[in-house]
Amino acid sequence: MSQETIFTKIINREIPADIIYEDEQSLAFKDINPQAPFHVLIIPKTPIATINDISEEHAPLVGHLYVVAAKLAKQFGFSDDGFRVVMNCNDHGGQTVYHIHLHMLAGKEMGWPPY
Ligand code: 5GP
Repeated sequence: MSQETIFTKIINREIPADIIYEDEQSLAFKDINPQAPFHVLIIPKTPIATINDISEEHAPLVGHLYVVAAKLAKQFGFSDDGFRVVMNCNDHGGQTVYHIHLHMLAGKEMGWPPY
């Protein structure tokens, strides 16, 4: 089964996105439907469909996504006030694009629980 989603097209520059960070393993770009003043998606370049598909071999790559979140927080000035990072899984989690991604939301105080 192909794991190609719209995010592969963004990685390959086949469709436009507001890319704010890139390295060998990952890409970060603004969410098209932002839920906070700052809402970016941090994705691995290697497609992994859901959290259920993450195995031990992916651990460094998945950990790297959090390193990118910390870098962006520092770069954009959100480290101290704080921010939220979330990854949705399947229907009940609210996942709509089947290429794992961290949502990074910042720039406002968020509530909890998130529903
Ligand atoms: P999920 O619902 O899977 O957790 O999150 C998918 C996110 O991708 C949503 O917040 C949605 O707004 C965003 N998204 C979907 N299609 C595109 C697109 O073509 N470009 C960008 N930048 N974001 C997208």
